[in-house]
Amino acid sequence: MLDRAERVRADTAFLEAARRATTARFVLFSGGEALLKPSPPIAACDVPGGVLQDLRVELSESVLLGLEGELPWFAVDVGPMREAVVGELARWGRFAPLGSIQDPIDGDSWSVLAQARALLAWNARARFCPACGSPTETRNGGSARACTASGCGALQFPRCDPAVIVRVVHDERCLLARQPSFAPRLRSVLAGFAEPGESLEAAVAREVEEEVGLHLASLSYAGSQPWPFPSSLMVGFSAEAAGDAIRLDDRELESAEWYTRARVQRELRDASLVLPSLKSIARRLIDDWLLAQSGCG
Ligand SMILES: [Zn+2]
Repeated sequence: MLDRAERVRADTAFLEAARRATTARFVLFSGGEALLKPSPPIAACDVPGGVLQDLRVELSESVLLGLEGELPWFAVDVGPMREAVVGELARWGRFAPLGSIQDPIDGDSWSVLAQARALLAWNARARFCPACGSPTETRNGGSARACTASGCGALQFPRCDPAVIVRVVHDERCLLARQPSFAPRLRSVLAGFAEPGESLEAAVAREVEEEVGLHLASLSYAGSQPWPFPSSLMVGFSAEAAGDAIRLDDRELESAEWYTRARVQRELRDASLVLPSLKSIARRLIDDWLLAQSGCG
């Protein structure tokens, strides 16, 4: 895991020298697509600064991700230069959208990609002050932006939007639901954003009640995952429903049904059911339940 290096973020001399170091590592994005290593395990390519300098990639707007020992890691969007560099970078990896990753990815590798994507996207969108509309400039290696107007100077920080995701079970069955936007045959657990003034627990109870009309008998924390599309943090829960009568909100969901473990296995075998990608906390919540002998796993 990278050291997020709070102590050096504001040190502009350090950042300038680090960006120029030929050994510095750069995670490359082009829009929402990341340069990924060509062979497993899935991870961002960490391209040395010297390679990018030779290709004349503009690094001044790169954002600091952290330190690996003494080695600085940055992320940079090659944007319009992509066509010029993509051939040269082919030996390092290939550009792919993070959302297309289907395989498992370890937490540290995902964290680097999520941090890079979220920071680059935020810096691209936060170029004007939300208080007065004046241009902003980068601070702290890209983890803050300051308004340039005299008399304002408002600071902005990257957003991190909490969303809840919950595995609801009842009598050895797990609730799997389909949103209209899902890929064909895909079903997953329920999820939604926490709203202002709401605890995560209250957000889970509200989302489950709104989407399927169920009340919860118990709720426990089940881990979290950064979800940089563009800036969410998925907070996972495991819940036991008080009853099993589903009242579907068809504005949000196309269907929601109770699945036994045997039904999941059968429908996976005959390909009538597709589960979320192996990288996702949604899949981990489902797989943990499938592997558990009883209860909510
Ligand atoms: Zn301002």
